Amino acid sequence: MSAIWYELKHVCKATGARYGILHTPHGDVETPMFMPVGTAATVKGISPEELKAMNAGVVLSNTYHLWLRPGEDIVAKAGGLHRFMNYDGPMLTDSGGFQVFSLGKTRQIKEEGVYFKSILDGKSLFLSPEKAIHIQNKLGADIIMSLDECAPYPCTHEYMEDSVERTLRWAKRGKEAHQNTENQALFGIVQGGAYTDLREHCAKELVKMDFPGYSIGGTSVGEPKDVMYQMIDDAIRFLPEDKPRYLMGVGNPIDLIEGAIRGVDMFDCVLPTRVARHGALMTSYGRVNINNEKYKEDFTPLDPNCDCYTCTHYTKAYLRHLHKADELFGKRLLSIHNVRFLLKLAEDIRDAIRHDRLDKFKEEFLDRYGRDVYERAF
Ligand SMILES: [Zn+2]
Repeated sequence: MSAIWYELKHVCKATGARYGILHTPHGDVETPMFMPVGTAATVKGISPEELKAMNAGVVLSNTYHLWLRPGEDIVAKAGGLHRFMNYDGPMLTDSGGFQVFSLGKTRQIKEEGVYFKSILDGKSLFLSPEKAIHIQNKLGADIIMSLDECAPYPCTHEYMEDSVERTLRWAKRGKEAHQNTENQALFGIVQGGAYTDLREHCAKELVKMDFPGYSIGGTSVGEPKDVMYQMIDDAIRFLPEDKPRYLMGVGNPIDLIEGAIRGVDMFDCVLPTRVARHGALMTSYGRVNINNEKYKEDFTPLDPNCDCYTCTHYTKAYLRHLHKADELFGKRLLSIHNVRFLLKLAEDIRDAIRHDRLDKFKEEFLDRYGRDVYERAF
């Protein structure tokens, strides 16, 4: 019996996008969904109560950061991640692989695992597929990830082929090491870069191993948008309909829509909180930089179409002032808005799927937000 199960409720007649329910040990969540990222067991600046109030479902946390600090044993002693950070909704952890691989030259990939140095104190560390699962078993999130290699883009077919084979061997080892299948669902990760044949091979081999869900990795690593959308198509066509699909690390507004159209159910990204702290906001009428002089005496809400705490209580002039004065409250308010914007966008996408009009919704969104969103980070 798997810890989670996916219930397909409706397929959009216009686009083929899926609306469904993901049943988890910590509650049911509707998909497609956006998952806010709480890297170090906190979504920066936002309390769990505030996350609930903005209708967040799954919250993500990063294994690499928690492993290094405070350590998985401390989290386990606290009663697991949910209790440690006081979030009783569903949670997801990654394997730590993405952070380790992004360390570049300081890490060494071997068949047994990855050797690297800690970013905190330079200590030599080792992460294996088994270790990644054991740490995640102690953290206790509802959904956990296999250790995979996130290969650079671009790379040669030869390199990617070796990498995919290793990722498959690691997926198998991780699955065998998983000790808490009743409460935690382990996902396999489809890699293969921009190579259609390797995406197909990786997806098919993972499906044979029968994971309760599948992730699409190795996207959003510098490839053009059309290449990324091709990578999604190449993976998803071989994934079973009765299992959730998670596109890792992707949360640009247009990518939520394009991903949903391609059959993705789950998205995550640090972008909304990261850019908010620099005064960059996503709104229903496009991108806003709150630093702009023109907001100095603008006493209207940041986004009149947004129902978040920030937009229903404060003005652009006030938000600009707080940001200029580098006030902590300003960073909180801007983060709350951006996270709610993506959660609301996911709600609107689900609504459009249920009404078989996601194609029209996409056009309406682009008319308001700006069609150059394909070329921008968000
Ligand atoms: Zn808002």
